[in-house]
Amino acid sequence: MSNSQAARDIDTSRPHSARMYDYYLGGKDHFDIDKQAAESVAAAYPGIFVCARENRAFMHRATRVLAREHGIRQWLDIGTGIPTEPNLHQVAQSVVPEARVVYADNDPLVLKYAERLMRSTPQGRTTYIEADANDPESLLNAPELAEVLDVGRPVALSLNALMHFVTDAQDPYGIVGRLLDALPSGSALALSHCTPDFDPPTWEKVTAIYTGAGTPVQFRSQKDVARFFDGLDLLEPGITVGHRWRPDAQDDNAATEQQPTDAEVSLWTGVGVKP
Ligand code: SAH
Repeated sequence: MSNSQAARDIDTSRPHSARMYDYYLGGKDHFDIDKQAAESVAAAYPGIFVCARENRAFMHRATRVLAREHGIRQWLDIGTGIPTEPNLHQVAQSVVPEARVVYADNDPLVLKYAERLMRSTPQGRTTYIEADANDPESLLNAPELAEVLDVGRPVALSLNALMHFVTDAQDPYGIVGRLLDALPSGSALALSHCTPDFDPPTWEKVTAIYTGAGTPVQFRSQKDVARFFDGLDLLEPGITVGHRWRPDAQDDNAATEQQPTDAEVSLWTGVGVKP
């Protein structure tokens, strides 16, 4: 699809999750309608900005750990979001220049900016596929995926802040299971997921705002997030609140004196490896 086709498909009549998230991260790629919805979320849950920042920081650390300690050279990142520097391939390629990354999202606005996700190292390779996580087979069978990933070798499946947009009625565990089934032993799942566990009344409000804006969401408990890792070997420290997952010196937030609270972050994170 060309960029002009994508521009025609962009629905500005209602807020969209990718553009609201761009607002939380301080980006510029959103419209007034997204900003208004994002500000009502922030009024109910001021931690949202911390949550978004810590979510990116988790992605950076999980990517580095998988590249450095688990020999991962390929990633499939679904629900990529509007490009935000550093993008996953930039983090991965800073460790292994030959890293290959396939990005996928179903928001036409992400497609519009996908060129920013293509700035690979000469040794590595990236591509972008417009795809819906609810149809994993189409994604796995996309010719662009086969051009970039060798699914005979380990791939890290990266699902950051995606699965809370897949409600139980949409079979979230089945979707993740089908994606992992297509990947060989040694592959990994890196996942982050917003949770109501630390402040249920606030998250009821957040759920109502998203749902009211036309985006069904299901924020899950630690136990329900753990189910995504069934059958995998969880890396230490298990499923933890985002900022507690292997903080490192390279992580911007580790350097700040004030650590966020669990309620501000409200994000379960984990990384598991397929035996
Ligand atoms: N993974 C990024 C962005 C998270 S925002 C990060 O963690 O920083 C969530 C993204 O998931 C949005 O870009 C939204 O468009 C995308 N998304 C939501 N539902 C989706 C679906 N069914 N299929 C593909 N992408 C989806």
